[in-house]
Amino acid sequence: MSPCSACGLPFDCESWITLAKSTGALDQHTYLCPRCSLGRTDVGARESLLEEYRTRMHRGHTSAALEEDHAGFPVTADARSQYGNRQRRLRDLEKVLHFIDKQTPEILHVGCGQGEFTRDVAATVSCKVMGLEPVSLWNRQATDNGINTIAHPLEQWRLGDSPRCFDVIVEHHLLEHLHDPRTHLRCVAARLAPGGIALIEVPNLLESHQTLEGEFLRPFHENVFTPRGLATLCRKAGLEPFHALLGTDLRIVCRRSEVGETRQVFPGPDSQSVAQAAWSNDLRISLKRGLATKGTTTQMLTLAKRVHSGCSWPAGRADIAIEVAVAFEKTEQLSEACSWLRRSLRDRNDPEVRLLLRKIESVHRRRKVATATSMPAIAFEMGQRVIHPFHRAVN
Ligand SMILES: [Zn+2]
Repeated sequence: MSPCSACGLPFDCESWITLAKSTGALDQHTYLCPRCSLGRTDVGARESLLEEYRTRMHRGHTSAALEEDHAGFPVTADARSQYGNRQRRLRDLEKVLHFIDKQTPEILHVGCGQGEFTRDVAATVSCKVMGLEPVSLWNRQATDNGINTIAHPLEQWRLGDSPRCFDVIVEHHLLEHLHDPRTHLRCVAARLAPGGIALIEVPNLLESHQTLEGEFLRPFHENVFTPRGLATLCRKAGLEPFHALLGTDLRIVCRRSEVGETRQVFPGPDSQSVAQAAWSNDLRISLKRGLATKGTTTQMLTLAKRVHSGCSWPAGRADIAIEVAVAFEKTEQLSEACSWLRRSLRDRNDPEVRLLLRKIESVHRRRKVATATSMPAIAFEMGQRVIHPFHRAVN
């Protein structure tokens, strides 16, 4: 494997952290750089995988997970949530435009696909917008959608041929697919007008609602990002990050760096902590799915105890305990729910969890003295709770 795209550390399978190693037919390995936490997936047959991905996306299929449902499964991006995603991206862009002192800014949407978001921008923002989409079947669709579209990859759109620069360059879920993300970001920096801003969005390993294998780590994603890894990569490409929006999708806002490309690694959680957080999130999601499917059976509880005690990452153990508490609360077994919440608090003193524990303890005490028929039904917040473990754990 090539050296780390962000910090330049040479690959070494002894010191790089193996995040996941598929034993299936694909032979897919994902490693984290021990210096900056940028992840790299090494997989053969990349071109055929990319072709399959493009065909699938063109048919309207996408497996982008926007959130996690009550049973621990990713909520996939159906047409409605894709629309919601585009609305959120428009709000991101509007925030960025506050930094641009220009009446009609010029915006470039790199990897515009079939042009849906680009069309939304043209319809809602006072600007001149154009798209860039090298995949011909998407490019044709974007042109049919009325988007002024360039058919080259950014890297092959030579600056000398076309000296045009942009006030805002925006791209969504593109960088993780590229073999050379640093060269791509250098081209982004070169295309920024003075004072211009780049808005880069990628999937965030640290706030995933998916398990690693088969869900988050897809073979057509060559790069795996944490906030620290992406910010370091931007610096290495001559961009200076000055704002980050965290979530399932990580968005980093950059200007062209005044000091050029630097090797400075951005501060953040170390790579071992990132890996521990990702592995314990896998355990949490798998357990949540099992509990939602099979309920709090004796067999599942034995498994839950084993998973909980086998998890070496305290923040991950705290979240696993919350999942078991939620399963008990759903079946009205309040004493057990309280017991698991106390276990969670032993690993992480979370005021939100402490408050929930007090609420459930209070209801449990009242139930002990009241008859079941006189007790009004109380809906706890816990059943609705969506856990964002990494936000609290390491971000
Ligand atoms: Zn690195």
